[in-house]
Amino acid sequence: MSAVTQSNDLRPVIEADRAHVWHHMVQHKPLETSDPRIIVEGKGLRVWDATGREFIDAVSGGVWTVNVGYGRTSIADAVRDQLVRMNYFAQSAGSIPAARFAEALLRKMPGLSRVYFGNSGSEANEKVFKMVRQIAQRHHGGRKWKILYRDRDYHGTTIATLAAGGQAERAAMYGPYPEGFVMVPHCLEYRKQWDVENYGERAADAIEEVILREGPDSIGLLCLEPITAGGGVIVPPKGYWDRVQAICRKYDILLHIDEVVCGLGRTGTWFGYQNFGIKPDFVTMAKGVASGYAAISCTVTTEAIFDLFKDSADPMAHFRDISTFGGCAGGPAAALENLRIIEDEGLLENCLAMGARLESNFLALQEKHAVIGDVRGVGLFRGMELVVDRATKEPVSEKSIGQVVAEAAKRGVIIGASNRSVPGLNNVICLAPALVATAADIDAITDAIDQALSVVYG
Ligand code: PLP
Repeated sequence: MSAVTQSNDLRPVIEADRAHVWHHMVQHKPLETSDPRIIVEGKGLRVWDATGREFIDAVSGGVWTVNVGYGRTSIADAVRDQLVRMNYFAQSAGSIPAARFAEALLRKMPGLSRVYFGNSGSEANEKVFKMVRQIAQRHHGGRKWKILYRDRDYHGTTIATLAAGGQAERAAMYGPYPEGFVMVPHCLEYRKQWDVENYGERAADAIEEVILREGPDSIGLLCLEPITAGGGVIVPPKGYWDRVQAICRKYDILLHIDEVVCGLGRTGTWFGYQNFGIKPDFVTMAKGVASGYAAISCTVTTEAIFDLFKDSADPMAHFRDISTFGGCAGGPAAALENLRIIEDEGLLENCLAMGARLESNFLALQEKHAVIGDVRGVGLFRGMELVVDRATKEPVSEKSIGQVVAEAAKRGVIIGASNRSVPGLNNVICLAPALVATAADIDAITDAIDQALSVVYG
């Protein structure tokens, strides 16, 4: 156990938290009679809470963020050095770390050449929506303004990104929403919508059907996660992406890949889209960009898109958008060091090796526990879908999966589960440990899940 954690009396902190902090995604009623969890320290894959309890964190900060693990002094040093030299200036001017990070990042993203900095995944995605709307106004005579998004995908928490969200329980009660966001079907083969052999191609064709229904001339953008994250860890089936790209080209629709979760190594490649041979027009990223050591997001695009905003004769031509904290120099300073760590420590390779181990562990668990209907994922991004009955695929209740998470925590492992997202289908356990995970960590995580499943489902 950490010496720092042990030596502190954190009771007053717990009381201050209970009295004043409104936690994200949390129902506070039970916290009237129990303590909130307060995480006070981390090292590698491990975190300690305010009571001194140690956990293996199998979800990288709860929401797939801390890709390089906790306690990275070199990132803290890079941020500190940058802040004392120059902490902030609006991104209407440049900064040394922003220029350096943009260059280093784009070396990993052939075909893309421009980075627009912001500070959250939602914000990065909204930038794309605004760019597409402006392109529609200036270059398509007001047409091509609609944005397609996919059932079960998530792109953020603001009103516009919720309008582009395929998770009804995230969006419920926050409407009305803006016009022009149109949903296409999800592509999860386990929950078949079409009885065909080439499922991936059929799921892509369903996008074309929506395009034809809406009118191709009205549609400017298709926004997709490379692998759906919170919506249930959905890896698109073979044939999907080639067909999706062909459809986008056919109807002159820009392709936006939301890499907020998969970006920076989560799937064993720098970006999730690189697993599938995708050539995107926009890529957005946030969480793993600086592994949570600083707030930073990037909206990345091509020179061709960038050029559409160049016209010195028209005062309205440039992208008239600003993100105040997109100018914080600590973000790109942290991101540059984060990227160096992933590269120099061979974390993509480790991610693939440990991801393969996690997958085979999960397949072994599936042999043992009838409740595991499907296991899926890529690299260190894995999910298992739990069902009451493998034949009917009836999902387990969200309550029972919450018990699995609690039982794993009792055994010292923090795991994730889809929650309040897709009505009736919040039945997927999600894992995304830091890319530094060892074989022993992977096995300890698996053991805790094994025991938790036995306790909850017998
Ligand atoms: N896109 C995806 C795929 C996400 O999973 C998330 C958050 O979980 C977001 C966007 C939104 O990012 P943020 O919470 O930084 O706004």
